[in-house]
Amino acid sequence: MPVIKDALEKNFLDVSVEIVQNPDLTQEPFYLASPGIGGDATIIEFGDNDYLMPHVDQSRVYDLVPLIREIENYHTKSFFACGSGAGPYKRLSEEVYNIQVHQNGSIDNESHIIRIAKDGGIEVRKVPNHETRASLLGNIFLSEGKSEKVLKVLAKNRTGEENFITAMRKGLTETFSDDQIVGLGGVFVMNAGMAKVHVMNPVLETSLETIEDLNKWLTWHEVSAPLICAGDFVSQQTDFELRFHHFHCFSKNNQGGHYHDDTTPAVVEYEGYFNVAERIIIVDKNL
Ligand code: ZN
Repeated sequence: MPVIKDALEKNFLDVSVEIVQNPDLTQEPFYLASPGIGGDATIIEFGDNDYLMPHVDQSRVYDLVPLIREIENYHTKSFFACGSGAGPYKRLSEEVYNIQVHQNGSIDNESHIIRIAKDGGIEVRKVPNHETRASLLGNIFLSEGKSEKVLKVLAKNRTGEENFITAMRKGLTETFSDDQIVGLGGVFVMNAGMAKVHVMNPVLETSLETIEDLNKWLTWHEVSAPLICAGDFVSQQTDFELRFHHFHCFSKNNQGGHYHDDTTPAVVEYEGYFNVAERIIIVDKNL
């Protein structure tokens, strides 16, 4: 916990980090499908950038429910999966996964996709309750969805270079060695200010050979708070080339995308609830 606090204090004027019983995260402003992010916490990293480059491989579809049911600890119990990745549809989209599956198989799905509308603007849509598929690549923070003791992190007024997530992630990287991988996941809300995000371009006419091609193809936007963001971050990439961090965000006001940074440091405000993962599971990476 001091690691996170010290790292944030290098970058934000106003920081508080404490361990609390998580509030009911189904409520405003978080709107999770489950009240908590506790119990048997697990990071799942699926898919690969290689399925976007040089050509989008739309055969890479992952139904999250059977995928999670294959995990030994999760064969039967209820679970909550939140995180960030690609939506399952042919028209490419970013998605905030937010799915509670009960032991009897019933589903509460509060996932949202963020995509480019025909007029070029961003549109946010809730996915149908039964739609639990993802595609291409993504990160899931899986838990039993229990209300438990979690890390509550507040940060306001950014004065350093690193944003909320990269500050915490770099703090972990500098503190833990290569063989002590630490991963956290959960949800945060950016309560004030603007954020830089990308949303995949639905039109793909050329092959994406380089990262520069990819960045030119993605559509870039500044979106405004409040933004609800879900995902995870890890201290090391390891030989498995883990994504250091991956958060997608959405709002009830048609704002959202893949979170990169806040762009209004003087007014930005973050409130997050995070839990520490007990394991990382890698699915269908092209290593
Ligand atoms: Zn993303």
